[in-house]
Amino acid sequence: MKIVALAGGIGGARFLRGLRAAEPAADITVIGNTGDDISLFGLRVCPDLDTVMYTLGGGIDEEQGWGRRDEAFTVKEELLAYGVGPSWFGLGDRDFATHIVRTQMLAAGYPLSAVTEALCDRWKPGVRLIPMTDDQVETHVVVDDPEHGRRAIHFQEWWVRLRASLPAVTIAPVGAADAKPAPGVLEAIRDADAVLLPPSNPVVSVGTILGIPGVRDAVAAKTVVGVSPIIGGAPVRGMADACLTAIGVETSARAVAEHYGAELLDGWLVDDADAATAAEGVEGVAVRSRPLLMSDPAATEAIARAALDLAAELAGAAG
Ligand code: GDP
Ligand code: CA
Repeated sequence: MKIVALAGGIGGARFLRGLRAAEPAADITVIGNTGDDISLFGLRVCPDLDTVMYTLGGGIDEEQGWGRRDEAFTVKEELLAYGVGPSWFGLGDRDFATHIVRTQMLAAGYPLSAVTEALCDRWKPGVRLIPMTDDQVETHVVVDDPEHGRRAIHFQEWWVRLRASLPAVTIAPVGAADAKPAPGVLEAIRDADAVLLPPSNPVVSVGTILGIPGVRDAVAAKTVVGVSPIIGGAPVRGMADACLTAIGVETSARAVAEHYGAELLDGWLVDDADAATAAEGVEGVAVRSRPLLMSDPAATEAIARAALDLAAELAGAAG
């Protein structure tokens, strides 16, 4: 069985671990979001790719959900002693090594997809991890800054430094319109038995990947099942509500399904807290409710199993 998943960081990575457990024999290709990527201290940092790689490779800080476990912050402290920031982005010593290797390889001319493959040689995530594109795409957020007026800032500055406290006027994946899917992305989607949308941020994770020219159409042609990141009208963690508000979408499991749309989505899993949405239905989408908290490995595996079962049922129905 061939499965493709479009993943952001924490929500995507945790779901993928459940998916790997639910279907150990499956050939899983993960298309990772690179819109959150940022250059810091001269190094290229790809937070979502690394979260997937560390989580599936057993190197993640489990409690935090990102970064390396057993991490130290000596390099960051030394940089700050020189007055060199930013101080708001957490880069630990172990993590630094990943970004140094990546930056060296990029400087030597390797595309990000090849670099990611090389990093995964160490981590053996048990899936094929491909960045959505080898081209540079950076999500920028336009805010009305009380001190500096209206300006565009990097997504990470909005998300990590400001904790999305200033409302986003617009969220723009800069470079996406001219980006090409990375080698293997469209082929993997074309060959997939099912495409899954993990409970990743619908705007700045899944939305960014779908915005790479050709990806949305390729995905829409397949059996697609998504898992809602919104439970009972709120994100499970993080500030996805601030992203949804910015694009005029209500923070609800139903509104996210309608935002993806019936042309894209065939099946949609909502939490039992949103059973009313399943009962009412969403036009053109098969909606089922079940527990969606990825509270432990067994619960997470059951969510992935449910997504696969729904995909199989819908693929069968389509004949
Ligand atoms: P990020 O890039 O690290 O922000 O991670 P993603 O975009 O992959 O996922 C973020 C989303 O995961 C958030 O909108 C959360 O609501 C969602 N999420 C986190 N934990 C859970 C969970 O246990 N269950 C569900 N259904 N969603 C979750
Ligand atoms: Ca992210």
